[in-house]
Amino acid sequence: MRTPNFYSHPGFERAGLRRRDTGWIVERVADPGSLFVPVWRNQNLVIELQGGEPRAVVLESGSITAVLGTSAEQRLSAGEVVFLGVIEERAHFALDLSPIEAPLEMLHSPALAASGIEAATVRFADLRQVGPRIDRREGALLALARAMMFWHSRHRFCGLCGTPTRSEEAGHMRRCTNPDCNTMHFPRTDPAVIMLVTDGERALMGRSKNFVPGMYSTLAGFVEPGESLEDAVAREVREETGIEVGAVHYHSSQPWPFPANIMLGFYAEALTSEITVDYGELEDARWYGRDWLLSHVDDDSFRLPRLDSIARRLIEDWLHGRIETDRTRGR
Ligand SMILES: [Zn+2]
Repeated sequence: MRTPNFYSHPGFERAGLRRRDTGWIVERVADPGSLFVPVWRNQNLVIELQGGEPRAVVLESGSITAVLGTSAEQRLSAGEVVFLGVIEERAHFALDLSPIEAPLEMLHSPALAASGIEAATVRFADLRQVGPRIDRREGALLALARAMMFWHSRHRFCGLCGTPTRSEEAGHMRRCTNPDCNTMHFPRTDPAVIMLVTDGERALMGRSKNFVPGMYSTLAGFVEPGESLEDAVAREVREETGIEVGAVHYHSSQPWPFPANIMLGFYAEALTSEITVDYGELEDARWYGRDWLLSHVDDDSFRLPRLDSIARRLIEDWLHGRIETDRTRGR
């Protein structure tokens, strides 16, 4: 069984059928056993004890009464409280604290004290900074909470008529409040293909200007309307490097809520080898031999992409011969 990619959570019960059960949802918001995942301006609440791994901070419902203020129904219809799912029989909600200027001060007491956490050790952090070091299940929960709040923050108005929308289905749909329009808007995630192009013993990697020094990675790009995933892989590789690819094999996918993507990972077999870099997209692209990659230690001249990325996963699996794609699975 393949290890899941970072930020995915196969065992997580989303309990989608409960979302329309408003009575049950409102009861769960008030339930002392329920837990809330705070999100503040795209950041997640974490605790970092000296020398330890960062941990997600979730708050008990009793401890956030002061923060919640208005009724649960109001919070729900504003999309400030979103039902995420059930873990070990406890309902989990995302809680948007973005309207508060200094949420940590509000949380200092009594919320954090009631949750048994020292305020001094917690902070709001960008998941991209702590993601590779955080427990995988917690990272997936924080990613989901962040992704849902990002979507809500960008869909307060109807895209058709411009009227304000309200949150329904425990935060998994927003409906236009103009009765003549009544359009439903659903959370979205934008598909992007990400692919390791190989020609046997070499892999094609590129770097863009905003990468950390020395970092090279797989190529990637957004899927366009009217395009298959395989076509998107071939087009992106051709546009960015001039390389033509033949067979394309699916590997795995990864939620990447930075801010709202699903990364679809592939291996692609190169048919040509001469690179023509599109300097609008990339700063450099090169072929790297497997043996060289296996013997190289990361430094400022060359380093592999971050540990929590599917890019790293595609590269490592290829380097170590762990490639399992739709082809090798016999489909
Ligand atoms: Zn509308």
